[in-house]
Parts: sequence; structure tokens; C-alpha cells
Amino acid sequence: MNSFSENSWNPWHGCTKISDGCRYCYVYRQDERYGSAVESSLCRKTGSFKLPLARTRAGEYKLAPGSMVYTCFTSDFLLQDADIWRGECWEMIRYRSDLRFCFFTKRIDRLEQCLPPDWGDGYDNVIIGCTVENQDRADYRLPIFKAAPIKHKTIIVAPMIGSVNLTPWLDDTIEEVSVSGESGQEARPLRYEWVLSVRRQCMEAGVSFLFHQTGATLIKDGKTYHIPRSAQLSQAKKAGIDFGIGTEGIPAAIMKRLTKGESYD
Ligand code: SF4
Repeated sequence: MNSFSENSWNPWHGCTKISDGCRYCYVYRQDERYGSAVESSLCRKTGSFKLPLARTRAGEYKLAPGSMVYTCFTSDFLLQDADIWRGECWEMIRYRSDLRFCFFTKRIDRLEQCLPPDWGDGYDNVIIGCTVENQDRADYRLPIFKAAPIKHKTIIVAPMIGSVNLTPWLDDTIEEVSVSGESGQEARPLRYEWVLSVRRQCMEAGVSFLFHQTGATLIKDGKTYHIPRSAQLSQAKKAGIDFGIGTEGIPAAIMKRLTKGESYD
């Protein structure tokens, strides 16, 4: 399994705000921008609900075997409103064991009640990212995340709106930590020293670290930078502070297995 193509799968759209990190949620911003007639807080199934099973006219799967599928990025996979649909998604995820599914959640405290009956200690092809935006949410969510039966765990610090000490939860069960600032016109600033602090924590624990994006407002060495959306990813990359991340943006722990010719799962 050496293909690194990426896809997105949004089986439902819309979400309710749950913590401070949701204040300027990009789903709400995008809906407003495109003049959606439906409230962003109303979760509804999308037309691509069955995308993992969809085939082209030639009979090939639309989601090519081996690809990474970023799942539910216009909602939260563990949203209560979607409880009635999730079972079918788990079936598709199980059926397409040739794909890797990755979702991020601010509702890790709902995981236990949302898992399929045969989950055991986790599906091999599912990566779950626990999102924390500040120390308060890290202290609440990460103990739950650490104890959860998940084969592949990542921590997403986004939008980073305060300094965070992740040290108590960093060990070899965490495959990656990524940090992002907030986007949008009203974005709260990201202080570069917060980013460097998380990087240092990761290096000390031997956990891969990715500075994913700067956000719209970055404060570095006392100076405030306003960064357009189009440059937020590239500016973070330009900082050159990633640790343990392969050239294709894949965490070292995973890359090692792939380059040895082993499958991810
Ligand atoms: S959990 Fe995520 S998708 Fe849902 S409101 Fe918060 S930021 Fe938006």
C-alpha cells in the first residue's frame, strides 16, 4: 500500500458548537460565504453519504484503494444528531479495509457510545484525531482519548488559542501532534512561542510534530503578521519546524512501515 492519494468524504454536513474552539467554525463561515439556505447547526446527510462504495462507469471504486480518506470535515463524526446514520458509515469503513479513514473530533467523550459492536481495540484502518484548542480542553479530552481503544491516535491542537502543555499525554501511542492557528476575519492570534513549546514537548517525547498552518494572525517576536488564507499552509511549512514528518506529510511512525513495504494496517 504505497499510494498517498487523499480524498475527503463528508457523509453529513452541519454541526453544533461545543467549545471555545468552535467560535469561528469554518463550516459556519463557508456556509455563510456560499449563502447556504440551511442553518449550519442543522446536520443533514449529504449526497456523498455512500461515497466509499461508489464506482466509476468503468467499475473502479471512486476512492482508489490505498488512499487516505479525510472523513466528516464539514461536521463532527461523533455528533449526536448523526447517531442514526453512523452505523452505516462504520459498515462502509469496515468493508473498505483497503482505505484509511481519518476523522478529527471535539467529542471524544462520545466515542464509547458511538463505536460499532466489533470495534474491539480499534479498526486497523481508522485514525482518530482528538482536537484540543487550549489547556482546559486538553485537560478534559486527552485523558479520555488516551484511555480509548483506538489503533491510530493523533492530537490536533486547533485552532490554537492558548498555550498548551501536552506532556502528560505524549508517548508512543500518539502518532502525531499537529498545530494550526485560526483562519477567518475574526481569527484569534496564534503566538509562535506556543507552537515552539508544543514542538519541544513532542521532540522530548519522540512524537512526530507538524506545524500545519499559521492561521490568519501570527505573533512572532512581538510582531503581528496578517497572513492571507492562501499562504497559511505554506508559511507554516516555510518555518521548517516539523519533526518526524516524512517528505509527503506522513508521520514518521507510519512512513517507516510503508517504506518497508508493509501496509498501514
Ligand atoms: S465541532 Fe468542529 S465542525 Fe462542529 S462546530 Fe465545532 S469546529 Fe465546527
